[in-house]
Amino acid sequence: DGPPAAAPPGRDRERERERVRRRAGAQGSAGRAARGRARRAPGRRSGGENDRRPEVTVDTSKAKTSLEALKISLRQLRWKEFPFGRRLPCDIYWHGVSFHDNNIFSGQVNKFPGMMETVRKITLSRAMRRMQDLFPLEYSFYPRSWILPEELSLFVAEVRMIKDSNPSWKPTFIVKPDGGCQGDGIYLIKDPSDIRLTGSTQSRPAVVQEYICKPLLMDKLKFDIRLYVLLKSLEPLEIYIAKDGLSRFCTEPYQEPTLKNLHQVFMHLTNYSLNIHSENFIHSDSVNTGSKRTFSSILCRLSSRGADVKKLWSDIISLVIKTIIALTPELKVYYQSDIPAGKPGPTCFQILGFDILLLKNLKPVLLEVNANPSMRIEHEQELSPGVFENVPSPVDEEVKVAVIRDTLRLVDPQKKKRKDTQCQSWEQEPGPSEELLDAAPSPEAALPSLCLKQVFPKYAKQFNYLRLVDRVAALFIRFLGVKGTTKLGPTGFRTFIRNCKLSNSNFSMAAVDILYIDITRRWNSMGIDHKESGMCLQAFVEAFFCLAQKKYKARPLYEQVGLLVNECECRLADLKGKRLLWGCGLGERQGALQATATTPSPARPHGRQVSHHDLGWALNIPCPLCQSLPNVLEPWTDPAPIPSPAAHLRPFP
Ligand code: ADP
Repeated sequence: DGPPAAAPPGRDRERERERVRRRAGAQGSAGRAARGRARRAPGRRSGGENDRRPEVTVDTSKAKTSLEALKISLRQLRWKEFPFGRRLPCDIYWHGVSFHDNNIFSGQVNKFPGMMETVRKITLSRAMRRMQDLFPLEYSFYPRSWILPEELSLFVAEVRMIKDSNPSWKPTFIVKPDGGCQGDGIYLIKDPSDIRLTGSTQSRPAVVQEYICKPLLMDKLKFDIRLYVLLKSLEPLEIYIAKDGLSRFCTEPYQEPTLKNLHQVFMHLTNYSLNIHSENFIHSDSVNTGSKRTFSSILCRLSSRGADVKKLWSDIISLVIKTIIALTPELKVYYQSDIPAGKPGPTCFQILGFDILLLKNLKPVLLEVNANPSMRIEHEQELSPGVFENVPSPVDEEVKVAVIRDTLRLVDPQKKKRKDTQCQSWEQEPGPSEELLDAAPSPEAALPSLCLKQVFPKYAKQFNYLRLVDRVAALFIRFLGVKGTTKLGPTGFRTFIRNCKLSNSNFSMAAVDILYIDITRRWNSMGIDHKESGMCLQAFVEAFFCLAQKKYKARPLYEQVGLLVNECECRLADLKGKRLLWGCGLGERQGALQATATTPSPARPHGRQVSHHDLGWALNIPCPLCQSLPNVLEPWTDPAPIPSPAAHLRPFP
């Protein structure tokens, strides 16, 4: 394929090659062991049908620290690796950091644009707060959090209020700098007045969060869980969870926080990068012992003690789906901006790292989401003072190689092509049963079963009612107008109000402008993104919630917002329907009606008599006569429990 078009030329490229060579050398036994295992991998077959298949090509030139695990996965799959990039397009681009690591116009990239920004501590907290405002009980798995410095006085006031109503509450808080990782700059406090607002690191924007004082312990140690989640597609939403993950242990026996032990990081913070420096850290080749173990080994121990592990898994799945539902609105705005519909561009998928803590009663609590979870399968060992060597970490390798390999299997572009051709040939000889489809020879039949389990759309029915902000984001994106932007201008906002018929004698267009200016100015002053002027999604959502509260007084927020979203969607669909009807002649209209009588549609069961709704269903607009909407999403009125205000203020268990 010749030298890569995007690869660094000359000396840079040589340096890159040298780095890879040195890395491979530094792996020593790790690399050799891994290569040996890959050679013995069950997927390997020689000659015959396998060799005739077109190879999947993967650009690994930007894979960074995930390179070693990726190489093993590719060998197991017998895919073609391009370690220095390639002049021709590849099927898959594996990036170590972000979507923007390369300029790509086709294929698939293992990162979504905007993911890093979306899961930063402050942005995640904002997104979770928005969902907690709408669905407090459903989102109680995220600790109550405040954003510093802007919410300092709110933090002080709320803590005082809860303490007044519940004098036995003796909270601890954890302060985490925004954009920090590996425990960097984190500290615990007992009182809001202990927040450090001066000094270089302390003055960084941060999240202050209720500290979980009673975590589940194992061997008297605090531990957390790193679970790997694959976001395979944003539209339609597809989520997979890895069956196994990692458990990272503290290295000092846990005690509930007191003023005396607050600073003991080996007792309170489970970060591997911190605890590895403790003299108590145990490297183990077994997955059941040591300071880093597999999550499945923890589940085994819990199960042997009689814990309901099934229920725990179901709570974790629910936590993951709900968290991703909270993140998708922002991600969709970034996506349409970086990969506008109708322009050539890649599709995306991404492995996310979910950090979860278990409470004593086995309830999972979300700590954070990592856009770039470490995929390293070796660790540094200090041979003698100051002399380090990379040694293999069997626990990491067992979990991470499976996650990468199976992610690749799920996004395999050849598989999709094979499926399409199989379907075509079977269409000509009708009637293959499901079993026959399963029994068709699969090139990966010899690989272990997938370690990634689909949870969405599998459980979509239970969770679709939570996707309200997604629908608000769809309205926002619709009025963004010019492709490639992430912010709404004043004209776009006015058009939204007009088209959705939201202004009236009580809410004039002048008031609309004031609302726009007020909210936009406040959000822009928070210093989130100064690149573009205008109203960001979060500001639009706030404005939308304001309008909903104004219009549908004295109802729970989710009902107010749901009603307004329904109304806007209905008005816009009505507008589109009218345009469609005005734009086509009578003959076409009758044709559309007749087509509804013969074409099976998911929304219209076979054999039912044609009613006046059917034109709406056929054109995906509300019924022109009665305005009932096509049944695209689960109705928002799903019976979500309405929380009492007291529940909202209850301290974290
Ligand atoms: P970082 O990205 O710096 O690792 P985290 O949010 O993961 O930041 O926090 C670091 C560690 O602090 C976690 O691994 C966990 O052990 C502990 N921690 C974080 N938040 C809480 C919390 N609310 N309650 C108890 N422990 C927490």
